[in-house]
Amino acid sequence: MSKQNKIIAFTGSSLLLLSANSILAQQPKQPKSRPNILFILSDDHARTAISAYGSELSKIAPTPNIDKIAQSGVLFSNMLCTNAISGPSRACLLTGKFSTANGFTQNEGGVIFDGLQPTVSKYLQAAGYNTSLFGKWHLFSDPTGFDYWMIHNNPGQQGTYWDPIFKVNGKQEVRKGYATDLTADAALDWMDKGRDKSKPFCMMLNFKAPHRPWEPDIKYEHLFDDITIPTPETFDDDYSGRELTLGKNMATIAYHLSRNDLKMTPPDSLTGLKREKWLSWGMLGERQHVSPNPNMSDKELKMWKFQKYMKDYLRCVRSVDDNVGRMIDYLKKNGLYENTLIIYMGDQGFYLGEHGLFDKRWMYEESLQMACLVSLPNSIKDPGMRTIPQLAMNVDIMPTLLDYANAKIPADVHGESLRPLLEQTPKAKKWRKSAYYQYFEYPRYHNVQPHYGVRTERYKLIHFYYDVDVWEFYDLKTDKNELKNQYNNPVYQKQIAELKKEIVRLQKKYQDDITLQQRREITTKHMRQYEE
Ligand code: CA
Repeated sequence: MSKQNKIIAFTGSSLLLLSANSILAQQPKQPKSRPNILFILSDDHARTAISAYGSELSKIAPTPNIDKIAQSGVLFSNMLCTNAISGPSRACLLTGKFSTANGFTQNEGGVIFDGLQPTVSKYLQAAGYNTSLFGKWHLFSDPTGFDYWMIHNNPGQQGTYWDPIFKVNGKQEVRKGYATDLTADAALDWMDKGRDKSKPFCMMLNFKAPHRPWEPDIKYEHLFDDITIPTPETFDDDYSGRELTLGKNMATIAYHLSRNDLKMTPPDSLTGLKREKWLSWGMLGERQHVSPNPNMSDKELKMWKFQKYMKDYLRCVRSVDDNVGRMIDYLKKNGLYENTLIIYMGDQGFYLGEHGLFDKRWMYEESLQMACLVSLPNSIKDPGMRTIPQLAMNVDIMPTLLDYANAKIPADVHGESLRPLLEQTPKAKKWRKSAYYQYFEYPRYHNVQPHYGVRTERYKLIHFYYDVDVWEFYDLKTDKNELKNQYNNPVYQKQIAELKKEIVRLQKKYQDDITLQQRREITTKHMRQYEE
């Protein structure tokens, strides 16, 4: 464990464990009316692929079941991720704290989530909830605070679409079939037969889909065969003015999808590691140029890859939507729907061709913005697709769940309960005016320069700092696609100066007031380079 992480582990577990224990002891006797909680988290599910958000794709690939959640509730139009990558976002959701406080700063390089620290599941368990977890975990230490858990446990814990290796309450087992269905099967089984029905439940249902390598169920292999997926406005972004940041990315549709991503068939003669290497070839851009046909023009090839990528992605989404439907049906049939807080989220946003990209990580809108739909018919005011525009963050979910469970929210949690926004209480009028962001993993995967930044309703300021020193400033009112860096524009210098001060304030507030050198070291200590 690195020195930095040792410090985090000490402050993050020993001290907080004391406060956790004292809070656990103080929990009041709970009324029976507390809601059940069904928290559904999909991996890399962008808002643009959820029809309730009304994008162009909605007409082609609707998600009627996920939409039902917003139809009996609300959707957030500014739910911002605080570190837009899988494990870190999950750690923020569980702890209600930023990455530098919970210690899980990046997926790569051997970072392990400190399971001794207080988490939402532990607090809910102590408050009398029956807790369970199904699907992707990706934090490497065994889950804590769950009465029952089943996680993807292949090497790297990314999960696989077919015949996944699960770890169930500590025991490894392979289940045959398609992961999205299997995860919901296990969840429904626990809901029906496994749980303690004398208690309210909190279930975390984390689908691996629609994460790379986008492998659809057999029944959906030919869905969308006859249509052409429209390209987004910024599909041909040339990164001018952002050459040192977005221009250095290694996640372009044109150059960085592998043979495996594009479902190309390896020669029969290859087996084992050689076969794996053949399939993963393509990720190093122009050094590994994947093309099914040398006669294709660059433009044709990029479009061919986009269609292939998007159709498989949307096919995987279809299975997620089906299974969300199964969960909702169960709750409705068993009289649980009205008093279950259902939250559906993607673990961060995702590029579906915007800026010519796939993947996530950047503080730009497509990856910063998380899908978030919430239903609780018994309690949410004005349900029926009401949009909540205030700046929310993934660290708000933990205190929100504690609030609805009538459990005490620890003082050191960074997030705020979203209940005032859901119930439109006076506190909603005094909501935060800025959100903070951190990103550390570099260069693998996808060569995204580490950065931090602040987002207000209108503006965004980002500092890329690892081996460059680049500031970017965007006016989202006049440039929603973030194509023009206005950092050097004299017109905006007052706003930029104010946002720099705001960053300092937020870094103090979120225990992230470290030097630039310390910030770089977080990346360096866990650095993984690309191999040919
Ligand atoms: Ca993810």
